[in-house]
Amino acid sequence: MITIAIANQKGGVGKTTTAINIATAMAATGWKTLLVDLDPQGNASTGLGVDAASRENSSYDLLLDQATLAECALETEIPNLEIVPATQDLSGAEVELVSVDDRTHRLKSALSHPVAAYDVCFVDCPPSLGLLTLNALCAADTLMVPLQCEFFALEGLSQLLQTVERVQQGFNADLGIVGVVLTMFDRRNRLTDQVADDVRDCLGPLVFENVIPRNVRLSEAPSHGLPALVYDHQCPGSRAYIGLARELIGRLPETRKAA
Ligand code: ADP
Ligand code: MG
Repeated sequence: MITIAIANQKGGVGKTTTAINIATAMAATGWKTLLVDLDPQGNASTGLGVDAASRENSSYDLLLDQATLAECALETEIPNLEIVPATQDLSGAEVELVSVDDRTHRLKSALSHPVAAYDVCFVDCPPSLGLLTLNALCAADTLMVPLQCEFFALEGLSQLLQTVERVQQGFNADLGIVGVVLTMFDRRNRLTDQVADDVRDCLGPLVFENVIPRNVRLSEAPSHGLPALVYDHQCPGSRAYIGLARELIGRLPETRKAA
């Protein structure tokens, strides 16, 4: 199994939208896919139609070692896609974990439980660089960074890259960055274009060629409890995520897929 953290400490940049739709696209390609919702807001869980009442075990229980991965993972409407949902409890986990042994590696040990028969695991991170995101970065083989093309995008990115370096030095030497994905791209907006050019100048091939356009269908889908890829698989946003999934698979080591 390859574990991919989807992180950016800025809120509203498209982490959850990317997590839901890239996970769905990978599942549709036949990869046994797990999505771990590590944001106390639980948007990935809601967006995949997991209502609050059915979240008996959650990523909180996983982190606090109160339940196993098998007990926490729920099937979704999408074949090959399971989710560990998030609950409100998770907002307390940052504090509760402080006094716990091995607090940065709780997610890693929970995911390494041998019962996990997944090919790929995505972790949808909260908008901060706290202990939850740190757990994701310690558990991950690699990181995917959604970046919204706006004025301060690059500044936020350099802070994230510094964190990644610190994690590589202190916690997870093997952590890679599989790519940066430009989100909410608006062709008609000249600033967006300019920022996209700057990001490509700065990061080169690290930036995925597939860009996610601003597309209202992507923002409508979660209120129906469906990935955009199911809600409207023909819309530009869905097509972009299918392209991104293809590009992502091309960047992953071939040997990682179990089946
Ligand atoms: P994050 O998880 O980084 O906070 P979200 O994925 O929740 O970001 O996106 C923030 C908001 O923007 C949500 O309302 C989402 O539906 C919307 N959104 C995300 N990506 C797009 C897009 N490409 N086009 C239009 N709306 C988008
Ligand atoms: Mg989110």
